[in-house]
Amino acid sequence: MSSQHPEGGPLTDGPADPEHDPTASYGLEPGYVRRLTDRIVSTTRETAPLHSPLGGQPLAHVPQSSDDDVARAFERARRAQQEWARRSIDERAAALLRLHDLILDRQDEIIDLICWESGKARKHAFDEPLHVALTARYYARTAHEHLDTRRKLGVVPGLTRVEVNRLPKGVVGIISPWNYPFTMALCDGLPALLAGNAVVAKPDAQTMLSALLGAELLEEAGFPRDLWQVVAGPGSKVGTSIIQRADYVCFTGSTTTGRLIATQCAERLIGCSLELGGKNPMLVLRDADVERAAEGAVRASFSNAGQLCVSMERLFVADQVYDRFVERFVSRTEAMTLGATLDWGNDMGSLISADQLETVTRHVEDAVAKGARLLTGGRARPDLGPYFFEPTILEGVTPDMACFGDETFGPVIALYRFHDEADAVARANEGSYGLNASIYSRDGARARTIARHVLCGTVNINEAFGATFASIDSPMGGMRESGMGRRQGSEGIHRYTESQSVATQRLIRFAPMLGMSDETYGKVMTAQLRLMKKLGRA
Ligand code: NAD
Repeated sequence: MSSQHPEGGPLTDGPADPEHDPTASYGLEPGYVRRLTDRIVSTTRETAPLHSPLGGQPLAHVPQSSDDDVARAFERARRAQQEWARRSIDERAAALLRLHDLILDRQDEIIDLICWESGKARKHAFDEPLHVALTARYYARTAHEHLDTRRKLGVVPGLTRVEVNRLPKGVVGIISPWNYPFTMALCDGLPALLAGNAVVAKPDAQTMLSALLGAELLEEAGFPRDLWQVVAGPGSKVGTSIIQRADYVCFTGSTTTGRLIATQCAERLIGCSLELGGKNPMLVLRDADVERAAEGAVRASFSNAGQLCVSMERLFVADQVYDRFVERFVSRTEAMTLGATLDWGNDMGSLISADQLETVTRHVEDAVAKGARLLTGGRARPDLGPYFFEPTILEGVTPDMACFGDETFGPVIALYRFHDEADAVARANEGSYGLNASIYSRDGARARTIARHVLCGTVNINEAFGATFASIDSPMGGMRESGMGRRQGSEGIHRYTESQSVATQRLIRFAPMLGMSDETYGKVMTAQLRLMKKLGRA
């Protein structure tokens, strides 16, 4: 079924016109956006306008999906999944490797679209195709390790043969946010497909096009078109329609929404993974390389204008290096270039929306009004674009200020001085989040010991977030209110499978045999238990 959207239609249909078609300015063929939005399962004739945060330019009218459309998307996905699950692991993995190459080949187009849609700087948009390619290659190359049937210990050695199968859950619902619109829409779905599932995806309304381009690339890589369905509309409506039908839900977004989703999944007794918010701490220890830490702190705080779940909002610096570090950090921050262009020259782009700008402005104004000091930044920059805000460093932030414990999700970092490392760790662990942390020290072993006391799902040593985020073999996710479950690694794919144990019993059975009484059977089994322990068996 094709989607219909006569009320306005995508704005890039027809001849390229730079006046009305911003995408024409980077040379895309007419009808490009229409081709993407045609993938949305929609019969409502309703559309939602999409604008670029860079300058408010219109990008598209996005067809909206009804509950019936979501039902239709699930029907198609279920049919496609049954055929897909019968294909070999190698065949499924090969499609991921083709996707890897396609993404690298078409990265300029992908990055342009991400920049237009999200307003981020090109260097931050580049992280997205990079992350999807890394994820695709990792899961393709480790597919058998995660999905092959595995032999397990039987209760009676030699007589009980046990193996565990990994069966796909069925159709996975993926609800994703706007901040990394390409990779957040795609990366969690790749292991789901590899495990033999289909996906119904609901990307955030503000960044539909990047997610739709991802769906197009999946098809070009050889995944059947119906295996990846995309629906569009408000989260509270379309998200709920998905949860009512999915066999598993993968959600990335705010802790508030995550709680609602967990409750709805619990009602249906289906599993979910939740990648949620954070108030991430960075620790600069007394033996840190100050220059390296200052460089890392800029990336940690201002990548994607701070709209990154794993970016830092609290920076604890040892007394001994505080002044030197602050001087270097402020000076590096003040040297950053901000801009609304699509080239590689900008160090930071725009926030995504008026809502984000309002939260960031409110947090900074509240902190300053209550006595925090602005070391740099602190102002909106409407001269650059409607939602630009300067990279901002605050000192003297106290618990009565909103930005002390609430996630700002913007380019704002609070600096705190510490004397004692144990005290710094305790302060880093304050609050209810536990997503990502960073520790800078010249002594890697000591930093790794400290890491064990930090209540975060990932800890990066001498790096901000990239080391864990790009190491796809290791799990990534949040402790406490930062999430449930993990993406990446074995956990990132096993969440989409049902483990099935199959045990084949030979010769003896689990009941008295050959006229044995129950009492004798009990004694024989007791002796067998003692023997197994003596033999060192698990
Ligand atoms: P959000 O929770 O408002 O929205 C995220 C997604 O959920 C969107 O697609 C939205 O449409 C949908 N949604 C909203 N309400 C829903 C509902 N009632 N039922 C079902 N779906 C619903 O999040 P946001 O504020 O747009 O995104 C930013 C947040 O996401 C931040 O808190 C950030 O830390 C978090 N985030 C976390 C990670 C991670 O990996 N941990 C990654 C990116 C973003």
